[in-house]
Amino acid sequence: LGQQVGAALKKIVDSNSVTAEVLDEVIKDLSKALIIADVPIAVVNKFRDRVRKRVNLKEIAPSVDVRVMIQQAVFEELVAMMTPTVDGEKVPTFKPKRNKFNVIMMVGLQGSGKTTTCGKIARHYKKKGFRVALIGADTFRAGARDQLAQLASTVPAPCFTSDVDDPAQVAREGVARFREAGYEVVIVDTSGRTQQDEALMAEMAAVKEAANPDHIMFIMDGTNSGKIIALQSEQFHSIVGVGSHVITKLDSDDTKGGGALTSVVSTGAPIAFIGVGETMNDMQEFNPESFVSRMLGMGDIGGLINKMKNAGLDSEKSVEVVTHMLKGETSFRDIQEQLRMMDSMLDGGSITDFLKHLPGMGGLGQLDLDGQDGMGRLRKVQYVFDSMTPGELDSAKINDESRLRRIAMGSGVPLEEIKLLFAQLKKMANLFSMMGKGLGKGGLNPGKLGNM
Ligand code: GDP
Ligand code: MG
Repeated sequence: LGQQVGAALKKIVDSNSVTAEVLDEVIKDLSKALIIADVPIAVVNKFRDRVRKRVNLKEIAPSVDVRVMIQQAVFEELVAMMTPTVDGEKVPTFKPKRNKFNVIMMVGLQGSGKTTTCGKIARHYKKKGFRVALIGADTFRAGARDQLAQLASTVPAPCFTSDVDDPAQVAREGVARFREAGYEVVIVDTSGRTQQDEALMAEMAAVKEAANPDHIMFIMDGTNSGKIIALQSEQFHSIVGVGSHVITKLDSDDTKGGGALTSVVSTGAPIAFIGVGETMNDMQEFNPESFVSRMLGMGDIGGLINKMKNAGLDSEKSVEVVTHMLKGETSFRDIQEQLRMMDSMLDGGSITDFLKHLPGMGGLGQLDLDGQDGMGRLRKVQYVFDSMTPGELDSAKINDESRLRRIAMGSGVPLEEIKLLFAQLKKMANLFSMMGKGLGKGGLNPGKLGNM
């Protein structure tokens, strides 16, 4: 999907002027890519309508780069497809509480990856510093207990299994033991069936009552079609109450994944993790924003815009600023404006961190703007700008020594430092400008998860 979406967007960045025809074609290409990736038709239609509504070519201000605007709209609408909301608010993902007893119960059909995911999740929380333990309440499948015990030893984490046949009793005993022993995150593996049937549902209800979980994770095989996923997800949701989803096997080549990642959203429970392989480390926390960024491999323009919006800029203004940056405008006033934005966006964070959002920013280390010194430098640049006349701000270069000396006096920044700053700013402006051009060339490389 990433590749197809990337290709469609590339049509936009390659075209000199974005006409209604080009936009139409691109939206059609995008919809096709989504349908091929098995995203349900209704979701695709909504996506198409919303992008079209947002990109109204007739009403776009000249200061806004239509190409950036389209990328932002596509980015945000793809993210929206994978983000469950309640009353317009993003549903938060589950976080175990420190120094508390948290029980997570895993449910799902046979072969979906429950047991494997138990190990992965155990390792995930262990790395975060929790005291983690596992319970093998799958008494249905032969060998299930050994499989979990084996995985537990590689985490490593203690694992409770029992010869008892009643899964509810195993769960009850295990939970009691680990609670007593002061564990913080206890993960209960349960049995599946080849299909969702009454026996499974009754068993899940019994284990749920015995384990009294704080959270239920529904593990789903991402290679299934979106239709099946949607159906499963609804059924499990109505019977045990699913807190979050884990979509597994998104690494396989034949994975479509689009269906899995978009079909569960309607249940209102988010995707917490995705499985991308068989080993204990092959799992990623799922975050729609970073997933879509990586999928599109577009140097995270969307992420950047998102950050601007979090800093309180409205949508249009953020697109304008990015457009600006990418054009690499070089007048001092432009840079002043950009730095002002950056400063408020950084909010105490690192400028290198922030610039990572931009494409092709690997070489930025040389700007040496990071660290305490960097923030101080950013302030200094602002003092310098404050001491410049309007005419100077609108210019792109100041050579006149007497002007430079006057600015130094006014800002309290030594002359030599001002010269250095100006040289750095020029470098920065050039970089932005290169990025702008880069967007039209290899800027849209599909990421590793290109097939989504
Ligand atoms: P369960 O029956 O739901 O407990 O499923 P298992 O955990 O036993 O997994 C079934 C199979 O899927 C095993 O061969 C796992 O190695 C494999 N598997 C699980 N998760 C992933 C994944 O994210 N990627 C790949 N490629 N295989 C996975
Ligand atoms: Mg299992």
